[in-house]
Amino acid sequence: MRAVCIQGVTGSIGRQTLAVIDLHPQRFKVDAVSAHRDVVGLAEICARYQPRWAVIADSQRYADAKAAIAKASAQTTVLAGAGGLCEIAAQPAIDIVVAAIVGAAGLASTMAAAEAGKTLLLANKEALVMAGDLVTAAATAAGATLLPIDSEHNGLYQCLPDGIADPDRGVDKLWLTASGGPFLRWSAEQINQATVAQAVAHPNWQMGRKISVDSATLMNKGLEVIEAQRLFGFDADRVGVLVHPQSIVHALVEYRDGSFLAHLGAPDMRTPIAHALGWPERIDSAARHLDLASLSQLQFESPDHERFPCLNLAYQALRAGGSAPITLNAANEVAVEAFLNGVIGFGHIAGLVAETLSQLPVSSPESLDGVIALDQQSRALTEELLARYRA
Ligand code: MG
Repeated sequence: MRAVCIQGVTGSIGRQTLAVIDLHPQRFKVDAVSAHRDVVGLAEICARYQPRWAVIADSQRYADAKAAIAKASAQTTVLAGAGGLCEIAAQPAIDIVVAAIVGAAGLASTMAAAEAGKTLLLANKEALVMAGDLVTAAATAAGATLLPIDSEHNGLYQCLPDGIADPDRGVDKLWLTASGGPFLRWSAEQINQATVAQAVAHPNWQMGRKISVDSATLMNKGLEVIEAQRLFGFDADRVGVLVHPQSIVHALVEYRDGSFLAHLGAPDMRTPIAHALGWPERIDSAARHLDLASLSQLQFESPDHERFPCLNLAYQALRAGGSAPITLNAANEVAVEAFLNGVIGFGHIAGLVAETLSQLPVSSPESLDGVIALDQQSRALTEELLARYRA
């Protein structure tokens, strides 16, 4: 029986992780959970799973959460804030930590799990974009096992020899696919006018709002290129992106001899979640299996960088190195939030990110505190640039 900590349990990945765990009650016990501010959702999950710890990340809701969870589960200790997230990630009783918090807010607890030597299932790509070198170094030092559950990276992991992108074993290039999002065939003008409802209506995947907007701008794929570099150590020239509207092939590994190994599956996050939860064994996920005979075609094309400038911004930030990916991520988080709140138009997201990147000189933070300070500095600058859009 393995004890699982799910960080971000009320979100899309968190709930799909519970759905997989529900299939394997003999194998996994949900022992720690966290939510950002959804007190009702967190209390319901506590009633059902009776975990030893629950954390409400928004400290202002601590009193509410404590009262609600006391009614739901007498044996659950309720903690709050970033300190609580780190505490449950590092608990000796926990074997597996699922890092499914959205955005930079997940960085410190992801790091805490790596430092504690846990089996760390990574859905939070922003932590790797911001501090991938620190997270992977801490994981190596503590003997932690990193398993990606971002579908593309999970696919790469499965197609690589022992999950390692080793050129000495013939690995030449990593390919990530992108569905192209809801605006794949829209004109630049239409894209600029897109509404929130249109941007979050992803054609193939059911996801949270932030990542859905990132998929519509292709920034999600840009962040994933950086994530792939962090996880597998290949530089920007050896991580490619292909638009593949069917979302059936999630990733490909190109080998020196001309072979391509591809990962195929229905677009359902329960498959990569089950792969990582069960690893090195294979367990049921309840995801629909592909009916290959009914697929009429699998298309691949190059991304259009004119209509989707965010992808190249991410490549530029990766090549610039140092703090540039931190700034890219921070500016994007602020811009996407402003778009979701109706402050800016969809077409302004890329411009705000580009402007923030061009105004902030690149530096090289060497500690987690340095990374967090740079994240704050980048956010402040984007907020300042945003002011001109506010009424
Ligand atoms: Mg992905």
